[in-house]
Amino acid sequence: EIYTLSLHDALPIFTAHEPDPEEMAAVDRRLAGLPLNGDRRQYLLPVLHALQDRKGWISPGALNYACRQLDVPPAEAFGVADFYALFQTRPHPPVTVHVCDDIACRTRGAEALCAEVEAALGPAGESRDGHATWHRSPCLGLCERAPAALVVAAGDPPRDQALAPATGGDILSAAVGVPTPQPDLAFSVPQAGQPGLKLLARVGRIDPMSLDDYRAAGGFLALRRAFEMGAAAVVREVVESKLVGRGGAAFPTGVKWQGARSAALPRYLVCNADESEPGTFKDRVLMENDPFALIEAMTIAGFATGCEKGYLYLRGEYPLALSRLENALQRCRERGFLGDDILGDGVRFDIELRRGAGAYICGEETALMNSLEGRRGEPRNKPPFPTEAGLFGQPTVINNVETLVNVLPIVIEGGKAFAAIGTERSTGPKLFCVSGHVQRPGVYEAPFGITLGELIDLAGGFGGTGRIQAILLGGAAGAFVTPDHLDAPLTFEGTRAIGATLGSAVVMPFDDTVDLRQILRRIAQFFRDESCGQCVPCRVGTVRQEELLHRLATDRPLGSVADEVVLLKELGQAMRDASICGLGQTASSAIESALARLPIYQEKTV
Ligand code: SF4
Repeated sequence: EIYTLSLHDALPIFTAHEPDPEEMAAVDRRLAGLPLNGDRRQYLLPVLHALQDRKGWISPGALNYACRQLDVPPAEAFGVADFYALFQTRPHPPVTVHVCDDIACRTRGAEALCAEVEAALGPAGESRDGHATWHRSPCLGLCERAPAALVVAAGDPPRDQALAPATGGDILSAAVGVPTPQPDLAFSVPQAGQPGLKLLARVGRIDPMSLDDYRAAGGFLALRRAFEMGAAAVVREVVESKLVGRGGAAFPTGVKWQGARSAALPRYLVCNADESEPGTFKDRVLMENDPFALIEAMTIAGFATGCEKGYLYLRGEYPLALSRLENALQRCRERGFLGDDILGDGVRFDIELRRGAGAYICGEETALMNSLEGRRGEPRNKPPFPTEAGLFGQPTVINNVETLVNVLPIVIEGGKAFAAIGTERSTGPKLFCVSGHVQRPGVYEAPFGITLGELIDLAGGFGGTGRIQAILLGGAAGAFVTPDHLDAPLTFEGTRAIGATLGSAVVMPFDDTVDLRQILRRIAQFFRDESCGQCVPCRVGTVRQEELLHRLATDRPLGSVADEVVLLKELGQAMRDASICGLGQTASSAIESALARLPIYQEKTV
């Protein structure tokens, strides 16, 4: 009989550690009012956040207590807590400063900022006073205002503050609780207030905390129109618009929605707001400055696809977006824009906001669903696809923030009008994340088909020394191009034609002061760090790739540089062929493109 027991049937092993009263209160408060008669494990991430927020780390006693409430074996819960970068499972000071040293911040003084913070707080990961420590961080999604930092202070209430542009002084002030003012919105959205914008139309024109402001600017007209049209007609318009996903995969949204409509009930809608690709910050800007638009768009999507429940999975490093979305959800519930009878039309839909906890891989749709279910954020094999068996094993529609917000102009103006914007195969308006060496970094809206050079002109032209070595397109999983490619149209087909990808619409030029060898190493480090580790080609390949780039950057190749380049290509091919998700499949893309196009290592041949 013993051998017939599965792992899940085994008795959970609890250690003798006990929680303290604050930890018990944090768990109890987080679970209060939640329906705990069904699957309780799904609340594991929210409960771990509550503990992390309260004490700055998750103690064994607190984990035991949480596991008893949620009916989760402690070993499994530890595996989940340990998976996410924002959770600490060992004693840790209450204040943590995350200083971004990723590629955009490197163009704007990240190393000097790290040195300043180290001088004040001591070596990374240590604490001189037991109150605060700091860590280097991957991209915090604040690239337009680089260099960036995130100060996370546990307590009741906890204080999370994103700082960008960050100075050493700001960071130390925030660490002791002094709030720093938010920078002018014009920093992030230089086009704010200009006529003709569709996705950024309200940004900078309305108070993002005010539902009345949103309505006065045309908010919720699209929802009313959608109810008048009916669900099937909304899906037809989305199909006709030829809208494709803006998260990188470019899957036709209408096809996804059509597939969901005939799937079994209940179905779920998930908004992927876990934007974490280095260099990407457009979804954050939308959520911070037009949060009601996302709620309206999710409600239309839920209505059109027959979902009564939506989940908004927000990147854990976005505290301002979190507070503005929480406010917007509350206001919408109070005024009947969410709930059991939306606008008196008998439509039922509500949204649950969940915070990610610092794992890039959770931007992969099935990893995100595992995370929502209280598991490690490891991608699942596909098929089955989410529209067949997704969240909790039920049919699930998942779209990212920008994709959903595009549905508003589609419903108002019609799919045909939307399809007339851009090009035949890349339709509609597009948001671009421009950072690095340009004069005015920020989120820019332009129709698909704008050329790379025109977009850079929109951002004021090249910055830094003006002598540009390379431009990263599409993010860390994208490709490097050169100033020779400025005439390339920014469309899915146009970027493909130059051996690049639009990816998450990152455009990041590097001038000739940047050591691109260090940039490539940082990209490799990022993928090594973020690999979930469940499949060998990616787990091992990303490590070997980083080691190889380290040897090249320190002029110690194994054999010749040419040998190393061959090896790097083989590693990339193995990861592409045998990794189960996009992270492993694209972990070498940008690096290989740099080696193919840029004279980075040639002169260093030993
Ligand atoms: Fe995890 Fe990498 Fe495999 Fe994706 S490719 S599932 S990130 S190990």
